[in-house]
Amino acid sequence: AKEEGKSTYVVYDKSMHTPFNERMNIEKHLRSAMNNNEFELHYQPQVEIGTGMISGFEALIRWNSPVLGFVSPLSFIKIAEDSRLIIYIGEWVLREASRFMKSVHDRTGIPYKISVNISIIQLLQDDFVEMVLDSLAESGLEPNCLELEITESIFMESFESTVSKLGFLKSRGIRIALDDFGTGYSSLSYLQQLPISTLKMDKIFIDSLEDKAYSQSFVQTIIILGHKMGLDVVAEGVEDARQLEFLKQFDCDKIQGYLISRPVPERGVWELLEPHY
Ligand code: C2E
Ligand code: CA
Ligand code: CA
Ligand code: CA
Repeated sequence: AKEEGKSTYVVYDKSMHTPFNERMNIEKHLRSAMNNNEFELHYQPQVEIGTGMISGFEALIRWNSPVLGFVSPLSFIKIAEDSRLIIYIGEWVLREASRFMKSVHDRTGIPYKISVNISIIQLLQDDFVEMVLDSLAESGLEPNCLELEITESIFMESFESTVSKLGFLKSRGIRIALDDFGTGYSSLSYLQQLPISTLKMDKIFIDSLEDKAYSQSFVQTIIILGHKMGLDVVAEGVEDARQLEFLKQFDCDKIQGYLISRPVPERGVWELLEPHY
């Protein structure tokens, strides 16, 4: 106790503690967020470049905490993963997104796809495959309307079992998208071993389209490669018409981004779809 007079904490920069405290605080409130219905899904449309029609949506989680206010998934998903809360949150996202998309199918008669982000922590669960099949059955959604978005980092852990789980789901008709493609440590040689249906080119490449000639070749090459492998190629984070022109010229399949729409809540989805049926 006598040493406490030295007040060691004042020698530290206060900001050093903030991230930890903030993390603890977020985790504390995350624990009750699910039971208190504080999560909501927003949906961002994907558009087929060839037809200009909406082909599906990506579900993106939103957390409006009565205490913390709006918290970005960029800050809480990592904490949800570290605390393993993502297992429950991720399952909720999958069930909720499937339920909603089934209601969209019932009302429009059009089999829009729904893409759901899956964390490595979820995938490593023994009952992951069962959980996905169960949630599909419960929603009544067609398997080929569900797309699971995974990142390359997923394959850095338990490569064999991850490939086998995703391969099994793919054999049941569920689609698998490789998200943020190009930002991880992917080697082209392992790309062909992955049970995937879709490549999502990261926004970084889309942003670079306008300023560097070689990045145009780069994007074009990814698209050609994806097509040779029988994959659908989606461009993420498309914000302006010039980017779309490049992508159209390079024969990219789909775009997603603010140019088409920001992620919107359910009623926004109905508004987007209204002119189409
Ligand atoms: P992501 O999967 O790469 O999702 C795309 C992010 O880019 C979303 O941010 C979306 O709102 C944003 N975005 C879309 N179009 C544009 C554009 O044209 N310009 C710009 N600047 N941004 C655009 P969001 O919703 O904040 O999500 C951030 C990340 O959080 C996601 O990145 C994903 O990794 C994670 N995430 C979101 N929802 C979930 C979820 O339900 N489960 C898991 N495991 N992760 C999620
Ligand atoms: Ca995603
Ligand atoms: Ca992405
Ligand atoms: Ca991302």
